[in-house]
Amino acid sequence: MKFARSVARPARRPNLPVPPIFEPTTEPGYDIVKVRVGCVLPFFDNRSVPHLSIGTVKRISVCVILFAMPIRSSVAPNPPRSSRTSPLADQPQVRNALAWFEKNSEHITDIQVQLTEIPAPSFQEGKRAEEVKNLLAGEGLTLSTDKIGNVIGELPGTTDKEVVILAAHLDTVFPPGTEVQVKQEGDRLVGPGISDNGTGLAGLIAVARAIHAAHIRPQRTIVFAANVGEEGEGNLRGMRSLIDAYRPKLRAVIVLDGSGIDHVTTKALASRRLEVVITGPGGHSWSDFGMPNPINALVRGSVRFINTKVPNSPRTTFNLGQVEGGTSVNSIPYEASLKVDLRSESDDEIVRMENALRDCIAAGVKDEMDNARDRSRGKLDWKVDLIGSRPGGELSADSPLLAALRSADDALGNKSRIERSSTDANIPLSLGIDAIAIGAGGNGGGAHSLQEWYEPAGRAVGLKRVLLTLLETSGVAPEKNP
Ligand SMILES: [Zn+2]
Repeated sequence: MKFARSVARPARRPNLPVPPIFEPTTEPGYDIVKVRVGCVLPFFDNRSVPHLSIGTVKRISVCVILFAMPIRSSVAPNPPRSSRTSPLADQPQVRNALAWFEKNSEHITDIQVQLTEIPAPSFQEGKRAEEVKNLLAGEGLTLSTDKIGNVIGELPGTTDKEVVILAAHLDTVFPPGTEVQVKQEGDRLVGPGISDNGTGLAGLIAVARAIHAAHIRPQRTIVFAANVGEEGEGNLRGMRSLIDAYRPKLRAVIVLDGSGIDHVTTKALASRRLEVVITGPGGHSWSDFGMPNPINALVRGSVRFINTKVPNSPRTTFNLGQVEGGTSVNSIPYEASLKVDLRSESDDEIVRMENALRDCIAAGVKDEMDNARDRSRGKLDWKVDLIGSRPGGELSADSPLLAALRSADDALGNKSRIERSSTDANIPLSLGIDAIAIGAGGNGGGAHSLQEWYEPAGRAVGLKRVLLTLLETSGVAPEKNP
């Protein structure tokens, strides 16, 4: 089609009433302009521009700047989509796997509810583990359960020399007998453990199914693991066992823990849990008054300990979490015990706090003995036992695993922040093995409470993020007959 030169000239816009953009203040000495709410930038063709005065142009510039500035609380919550696309995400098989999540969103939510309603306190994950194993059957995996109860599904790669683990913990913090039924409240699912780690477990199964449905064969072997013992005194025993089993071949570990797509845990928060036990002869509150009392000693030692200074940086915390002892109000107890949780961004601080706890308890026992009127019928004994230790560690900024996550984020137009946290990733990170912990999409909150909730909206993006990070790390074998 040809245009005569004159035709190509932009046609004059009809004289539509254009609302004034600025109302200059009339106050002398001020060069501030008021911007009309909902100001519209007018269209100027090349003939109208020369009619603008310098002042108007300046003001338009101000408006353009104001227009471009982020407006508090009215900015769209979603980050802008990146124009970059991942070559991985463009492969037809991978595209099919990515599409699987949206097509099966209700099915994934059903699995999440089904698993959450099977109680699984740490050390009692067996029933839930069995169900996860059933759900992973028929997905092309070699399934097994190891000696401590981890469910393992191997998807062989074109090479068996290297392995990537995708893991989600089975256990919850809720004791046996907790009502774990999931309720629907509007768009929310509410129930203990629904997000931590119902989301992670449903995500693990969904990723395995999507890969199977799309006939993807990885280059490195992928190990899908639903592991025991992440919470509390489980002390990461499931992950420790997985790492022992795969360490020589282990390339990277991706942990699915909870919901969301806004963070990536690359820094492992070190923690140590200790139990103090003080014992003595015990006796009658009246007739044996003056004998050393283990509860007195524990209180004396604890008061010293909680006065120990901890730094804000590196952030260091302590918690006296559980105290027990005594048999009745009118008996001098024969035993008192205390559980203490220590956490720090620095291993040195944890060691310092543990030493402080031991010193303070020793001093508390000595105070009590020094103050006892009757030492002839026994003395106090004490011990401090380690009941949990989560080592610290950090993923290096140039790790290929972090690059894979960033590339997945880019492909999905997502932005995530680096976090320090205490997760199953602590174990590999402490051993210098690449590891991250991420959410498995959707939104959740109230973790470790009876009001824990989850909203599935947006889950697919989270699972795509998981899948792309996993496949970027494992590699994808070329399709046989494309
Ligand atoms: Zn968790």
